[in-house]
Amino acid sequence: MVTYQYRCPGCGDVDVRRPMGDASARLPCPHCGTAARRVFTSPRTRLVAPGLVAALDTAGASAENPQVATRGPERPAPRLAHPLHARLPRP
Ligand SMILES: [Zn+2]
Repeated sequence: MVTYQYRCPGCGDVDVRRPMGDASARLPCPHCGTAARRVFTSPRTRLVAPGLVAALDTAGASAENPQVATRGPERPAPRLAHPLHARLPRP
């Protein structure tokens, strides 16, 4: 879905969400029904949260070139310091 902007003579600028490429030059205003004319604006990429963009980029990079472990950790796991920890259940 893409947000298109229309200008209604009575209501001013109105945002309308439609499928990409499904925007007509005129549209009935969703508020008053008057014919509203489409206004061409720059893409609204700034509405996407920067964290979401980073997460999508990371997911895309991981899908194309996943990082797979080829060997175990360099050092053994540290021993537990408290003696009661030895009585805890192990996986
Ligand atoms: Zn209107």
